[in-house]
Amino acid sequence: MILAFIEHVAGAPTMLSLEVLTMASRLARKMGTQLEAVAIGPKAVAAAEILSSYGVSTLHVADDQRLDDYAAAAWAHAVADLAARVNPRVIIGTASDRGGEVIAHVATRMTMPMAANCTEIVPGDPFTVTRQRWGGSLLEEAHLKGTIKLLTIAPHALAAEASPSRTQVATDTFSPALEDKDFRVRLKISLAQARVVVGGGRGVGSAEGFAALEELAGLLGGAVGCSRAVTSLGWRPHSDQVGQTGTRIAPDLYIACGISGAIQHMVGCRAAKHILAINTDPGAPIVAQADFAVIGDVQKVLAAVNAEVRRVKAGEPSRSPA
Ligand SMILES: Cc1cc2nc3c(=O)[nH]c(=O)nc-3n(C[C@H](O)[C@H](O)[C@H](O)COP(=O)(O)OP(=O)(O)OC[C@H]3O[C@@H](n4cnc5c(N)ncnc54)[C@H](O)[C@@H]3O)c2cc1C
Repeated sequence: MILAFIEHVAGAPTMLSLEVLTMASRLARKMGTQLEAVAIGPKAVAAAEILSSYGVSTLHVADDQRLDDYAAAAWAHAVADLAARVNPRVIIGTASDRGGEVIAHVATRMTMPMAANCTEIVPGDPFTVTRQRWGGSLLEEAHLKGTIKLLTIAPHALAAEASPSRTQVATDTFSPALEDKDFRVRLKISLAQARVVVGGGRGVGSAEGFAALEELAGLLGGAVGCSRAVTSLGWRPHSDQVGQTGTRIAPDLYIACGISGAIQHMVGCRAAKHILAINTDPGAPIVAQADFAVIGDVQKVLAAVNAEVRRVKAGEPSRSPA
């Protein structure tokens, strides 16, 4: 069996992944074996529809909330766990930044050989690939040994081409046995693209005071932002600053904690769909501009909010009044 690692955006496979599927389905036909795919995150289930046009028989979906953010080691752990169970002869992915990194991690975990940026594959003994070196200025022929061969396909080495006949795609959702160390390196959601931003101002009180904001952003899958007062105080880097001289954000929800709402700050968050202000001063300009406001100390309010969100996420009943 050939296992294709698919990258997707909300269940829609990327163009490079469709190229990989095209190469993989041709390889599967040459090897007289079947093609299966693996993708990360519950939204990947939606990819089954498109995968049915690329000869895929089973779509394996790694389902763990912690995998929502990109973490190469964790994603690779999921793919390697699956490979140990389904025993593919080839694991194939894109040569995108993520694809290359994940497949390299899988190869290391499984102590198997990997060839990156392949343009041609000739199965058999020896298992031969042509791969790009030096940014494509040199083509190299290589022989891969090992019971499982790991490959990435160079971008646009071939055009994506759906198979003439469609397959019935079975879906297998699995929970990999992930460890905390798999998440040591994790890509955080960019401020400009985050659906939820938890912003902190001088009212947060200190750099350490941002821990509660970090926790809430993590729980909601969002990013942390801040005001210029905070960057001037050295509590956060300038890359976190929202505003005229910082990043312009457009989240679904902006939670502004201890931020007064100066015009230069509001310029950066006016595209937010909803603003929730947490402030001790009911007369703060941001309170007048927010959709919702909680008047109170930011640390006390966030402690209660975080506890409630944690409880709800754990599936426990809410303790808020009915
Ligand atoms: C040219 C120029 C460009 C600028 N660009 C930017 C920019 O890009 N981004 C930006 O943010 N600013 C920018 N500024 C600065 C801006 O004018 C404000 O000074 C800044 O936004 C204020 O930051 P703040 O709201 O965190 O602090 P403050 O104005 O000091 O407000 C702190 C708020 O916290 C509240 N608070 C205090 N304690 C607590 C507590 N315990 N719990 C809850 N609330 C509490 C207070 O009531 C107050 O509303 C710019 C200014 C200039 C002149």
